[in-house]
Amino acid sequence: MARSLTFGLTFLFFNAIVHAASGQEPFQTVQTDGSKREWDVLRAAVGNRLFEGVPFAHPCFTQGFNSTACLAVRTGYLDETSRANVPGGYVQTQWETCQVRNDDQCLLSYTNPHDLTPTLPPRQCRIGSIPAHFIDVRNEKDVAAAFTFSRKTKIPLVIKNTGHDYKGRSSAPNSLALWTHNLKAISYNPKFIPDGCSKASPGVTVGAGIQWGDAYAFAETNNITVVGGSDKTVGVTGGWLQGGGHGALSNTMGLGVDRVLQYKVVTPDGRYRIANACQNKDLFFALRGGGGGTFGVVLESTVLASPRVTLQTVIVAFPPSTVRTRELWNILTENGLKWADEGWGGFSTSGIAILLNPKINKEQAATTMRPLIQFGKRLQNEGVQGVQVVVTEFPSWAKFFEAFTKDHVAAVGSSLALASRLISKNNFRTPSSRSSLVSGLLAADAATPGLIILISAPASFPSTGQTSVTDAWRSSVYHVTIVSAWNWNATVEEKKGHYKAVSKSIDNLRRITPDGAYLNEADVYEPNHEVAFWGKHYPELLRIKRKYDPDHLLDCWQCVGWNRKAPRFGCYF
Ligand SMILES: Cc1cc2nc3c(=O)[nH]c(=O)nc-3n(C[C@H](O)[C@H](O)[C@H](O)COP(=O)(O)OP(=O)(O)OC[C@H]3O[C@@H](n4cnc5c(N)ncnc54)[C@H](O)[C@@H]3O)c2cc1C
Repeated sequence: MARSLTFGLTFLFFNAIVHAASGQEPFQTVQTDGSKREWDVLRAAVGNRLFEGVPFAHPCFTQGFNSTACLAVRTGYLDETSRANVPGGYVQTQWETCQVRNDDQCLLSYTNPHDLTPTLPPRQCRIGSIPAHFIDVRNEKDVAAAFTFSRKTKIPLVIKNTGHDYKGRSSAPNSLALWTHNLKAISYNPKFIPDGCSKASPGVTVGAGIQWGDAYAFAETNNITVVGGSDKTVGVTGGWLQGGGHGALSNTMGLGVDRVLQYKVVTPDGRYRIANACQNKDLFFALRGGGGGTFGVVLESTVLASPRVTLQTVIVAFPPSTVRTRELWNILTENGLKWADEGWGGFSTSGIAILLNPKINKEQAATTMRPLIQFGKRLQNEGVQGVQVVVTEFPSWAKFFEAFTKDHVAAVGSSLALASRLISKNNFRTPSSRSSLVSGLLAADAATPGLIILISAPASFPSTGQTSVTDAWRSSVYHVTIVSAWNWNATVEEKKGHYKAVSKSIDNLRRITPDGAYLNEADVYEPNHEVAFWGKHYPELLRIKRKYDPDHLLDCWQCVGWNRKAPRFGCYF
């Protein structure tokens, strides 16, 4: 039986931001092309749901730093939900700015959003890379109208869902954005049959605005499991599901792209199509790893639902030091292949390992995890303060998520450069390859502190052979990320320096691994990105891109078939 529910906008905050646009002191807006008549036609076609882009921190520059609207911004500045709920909010703030210029931004300080300094003259609130206009998308006709408009006016389109993108692919200067946030339908069908197919599987169908926190709560209510990421406000259907989608259950249950049953998508010719294993198969293949913002605007997706899983969980946390971190990562890598085979997934940083397993029981978990548990207990016996060793069971993914990852999110409200690498099974096979791997991890963490090992590759999940992500995912155990952050007052040279720093830092792992990286969390300046993200699938993806988007209405940074020289990329270095 299908069930559905809808969620509303966070009206108050949204209204505060939108109304700020009509205040006494307009922010420095931009002139976009397109005649008044063309804009009027578009506005009518989308039921008046067309409005100007407004920077998140705009009220703090125009209504007074102590105004109610600015207080809401200051309070929500580091909160991903506040940012994801408004069209002009982005999780990494450089994508709200035009980072090649020092003053084309509207930011507060991420180390202290209550500091007035960034708003003092001569600073002004400028729109940077935030799209000049947004359509609050509610149906396929809105999207078709936007494609018609963009074809006619040449105004670039972007698709903005939650604004989590690490590579700035959901904003662009002087653009028109399709904002999918309010497509909030969600339903469960235990016998979902993709349109035109005959085989039924349990499926959860979500509108493009549904986020993982919504989906996990819904799955819990329905006693099922959906496989998603570790952040509650990343979207289910946008960049995550079309670019790969990994999570702590991916080792045993697959990547997001492995579990899609169907997409409903408006292609650049304005047609609303169904893509699944039985129709528009090439488009289905492309949307399963070719990346968001490239082949069409997905309005709905259906993903496989699995029965509820019981999770065995082992957590060891301690104050990090080079010696202890080396020992932890030695233990993880020595057992890496065995634990991957047994079904363990999870995370590790320099001072913690969180491992979980949906396939085994409590006794088996305690036995196989003995090296890690003993390490934690030894630190406790040595009197190291702040060591925690937790061995426990969770009745579902949602309960685990609630306890451990819901409120532990990556940096929000800062600007940051990220880089990553997929770590192959071969890196775990011999003492010498493991030693090189641990040295590479330690060197990268020393160069850019904050390295995260995500044990989220589909190492023990059989590939369907029907997805377009790089095959490197299939032979990997870890996906490793590093970051380097900067504040509102960084100079252009300093910003460039952060991108260079992460690139250099991840070289410690590039040197010893095959050419594979997760496109959603890669170095913005990934060398050889076509191979790193898609491997042998790139030529076919390019063919599909040209077939469905011959006029190149959709484009994004290092996306399939991108045009590096397009004006929309004017704010990248
Ligand atoms: C804090 C944080 C935690 C993360 N955790 C994980 C994780 O655990 N696992 C993981 O795999 N990734 C993770 N990511 C990376 C995440 O998958 C990407 O940032 C992804 O691009 C976000 O997609 P979005 O749709 O939510 O964001 P947006 O920034 O809105 O969009 C991202 C891209 O998708 C396109 N897009 C959005 N909606 C659509 C649509 N309906 N149709 C077509 N294209 C669309 C956009 O144009 C853009 O190119 C994380 C990111 C952050 C910031």
